[in-house]
Amino acid sequence: MEYKRKNLWLNIDENQKNDLEEISKDYINFLNTAKTERLATKEIIRRAEEKGFVNLDEKIKEGSLKAGDKVYAVNKEKAVALFLIGSEDLENGLAIVGAHTDSPRLDLKPVPLSEDTNIAYLKTHYYGGVKKYQWTTIPLELHGVIYKKDGEKVEISIGDKEDEPVFTISELLIHLSRKLMDEKARDVIKGEQLQIIVGSIPLDKDSENPVKKNILKILNEKYGIIEEDFITAEFEAVPAIKARNAGLDNSMIIAHGQDDRVCSYATLNAILSMENSKKTLVALFVDKEEIGSYGATGMSSQFLENTILELLNLKGKADLISFKRTLKNSKVLSADVTLAYDPNFKDVSEIDNAAQFGCGVALTKYTGSGGKGGSNDANAEYLQEVRAAFDKNNVIYQTGELGAVDAGGGGTIAFILAEYCMDVVDCGTPVISMHAPTELVSKADLYSTVEAYKSFYQNI
Ligand code: MN
Ligand code: MN
Repeated sequence: MEYKRKNLWLNIDENQKNDLEEISKDYINFLNTAKTERLATKEIIRRAEEKGFVNLDEKIKEGSLKAGDKVYAVNKEKAVALFLIGSEDLENGLAIVGAHTDSPRLDLKPVPLSEDTNIAYLKTHYYGGVKKYQWTTIPLELHGVIYKKDGEKVEISIGDKEDEPVFTISELLIHLSRKLMDEKARDVIKGEQLQIIVGSIPLDKDSENPVKKNILKILNEKYGIIEEDFITAEFEAVPAIKARNAGLDNSMIIAHGQDDRVCSYATLNAILSMENSKKTLVALFVDKEEIGSYGATGMSSQFLENTILELLNLKGKADLISFKRTLKNSKVLSADVTLAYDPNFKDVSEIDNAAQFGCGVALTKYTGSGGKGGSNDANAEYLQEVRAAFDKNNVIYQTGELGAVDAGGGGTIAFILAEYCMDVVDCGTPVISMHAPTELVSKADLYSTVEAYKSFYQNI
């Protein structure tokens, strides 16, 4: 009669434990490759192609689409959608699991290079919600694309290989921090102080900004770029810290960007394990969630609508009524992380409703802040459908809440998909230290997330 969360570790057999370890290893590899939304998109496509997915453009050229076809559509190298075409009409609705591949980080400014007193810097503008003081004194690596004046594109990654240098941001020594220690946490490191140290050797003894000039010389020799090229570049600095096992019992994974690459991975794993389906299955990986889902590669863009219309067109049904029916009959899991109850910070959660570490993926009826503000707030009827789908495969899951009432809050892509009258509910992995340079996830919860998304695809 009573509701009690189940701890996965106590409720899985040896076979499931082996699966859990396999999935965790594969997930760690995924994290160490998919460090930005661009790299994640590339890796998702690579894995999808391995499993027989083809670019939708090829199907458009052929002019046909049939049940069992596996296709993907890419949006500007930063978002991707995978479709396993079902045997039913698209108008019966799609089964969509939607995650985001962007994570909090530091982006280089368009004119990033500067020099002050024998040190050259790269100026940044932080992306997403970060505690700025957490980003000093850790090793950072750079990933990005830059265009030369003639239009040639250069892709650059520095710092993720052992023999490559890393970068860092300085911190004030404790000896001289008497005044700083009394500052508010948000002012301890100011936004403009998030300057990445990039070099310290002068080019010569006479010129102005000799260290910066030396850095430009190195960049030009290595990549053929000049300072002006940064204007048409996108560079992201992320922690140069490899994803790895955590805990003496190896029960957890520590890594940057698990919001939301843990759900991205689980979504990918789930759809790649499907072969046939009645409903058309969709795995959606979008960008820009951390800054409000705006922009052409965020959930607010019409990428999904455009792609669904292409599918309907290939089926000879690209009329408005078929399109609207397809959207409104679709069912969605908004695959985004939630907070795991952290005994170190008890006040911000309410223990009966917060997701607990190791007790599985969290089904979260509402998010938002200040009285569910900005939240999708799923219907009871739909929650029941999802519960039945999970129960059918004996998925161990739990309920979650994004913090105690009025403790703060946050949002996901759920409300944007709900605009089509789709049924949507948030369902993602509990995370400790969310948005910090490294975040912590339980392997049990990762495993449960994969199982939940699979059962959604199979049973919804
Ligand atoms: Mn997220
Ligand atoms: Mn987030």
